[in-house]
Amino acid sequence: MAHNLKRFIEKHLHLLGIVIALLVITAVYITSYIIYQNQAISATDQATQANEKSTEALLAKIKQEKATAAAAAQKKTTQATVASTTPAPTQSVATSCNTSTSHNDPSAIDVLVNKKHCIVPLSFYPSDLVNIDGATLSAKAADSFDQMFMAATAAGQPFGVSSSYRSYTTQVTTYNYWISVSGQAGADTYSARPGYSEHQTGLAVDVKAGSCTLSCFISTTQYNWLQTHAADYGFIQRYPDGKQSITGYETEEWHYRYVGAAVAQDMKMRGISTLEEYWGLSGGDY
Ligand SMILES: [Zn+2]
Repeated sequence: MAHNLKRFIEKHLHLLGIVIALLVITAVYITSYIIYQNQAISATDQATQANEKSTEALLAKIKQEKATAAAAAQKKTTQATVASTTPAPTQSVATSCNTSTSHNDPSAIDVLVNKKHCIVPLSFYPSDLVNIDGATLSAKAADSFDQMFMAATAAGQPFGVSSSYRSYTTQVTTYNYWISVSGQAGADTYSARPGYSEHQTGLAVDVKAGSCTLSCFISTTQYNWLQTHAADYGFIQRYPDGKQSITGYETEEWHYRYVGAAVAQDMKMRGISTLEEYWGLSGGDY
């Protein structure tokens, strides 16, 4: 029996060799195929992961851009609420008001408003008011104010806003309040009569440093920063020290008026500190 088997194997050895060879080739082929598939899957996974990562980054970027745009829109274009109808002005005090100058358009940035030059009409309100950085200002001043505000903040000198646009009717209340405190003669030295306040134009802003407002402001580093930089953004300190006979007001280190960078820088360069002197127009008391 064993002899027969031996003979059989010897006779068909070459066939066995072929079968083994085929088995080896098949095994090599299958192994190669599996390796190739695994590599392909791995590459696909990596590509998918990279794709997911870039998609996430893109989504995050879009989200960020949307948030920035929304914040900017919120900041720049929030239309300030303004009474569409303003009550007819009732002047509590008889005044003469010079309106015959080339600086009497309350919607222009070169308007002169002082005790000799009232706003015409007295009940004027700006149609382009926007809310920005805690202020309500005419759109003509808002962008420059925003730039100044951001620059001060970036320089470590952040300031706030204590007052900006005030309507005619608000000024009636404000002025009457100060009369009750100091009497009319006293109130007239620091509070404008209704229709005579720059705040009604939307071009003026009272700034503060933290809780340091009004006459406290002069002692702050924010005040120093504004003295150096305000003109670059078109703002001037409207009521400088020692100019009461010209402006009609005691010094106000906190009150800034937008006149545009060209005028503000020219005034600074020429050492002219009041609009009355710069434009050669009358000022002082009522
Ligand atoms: Zn003011």
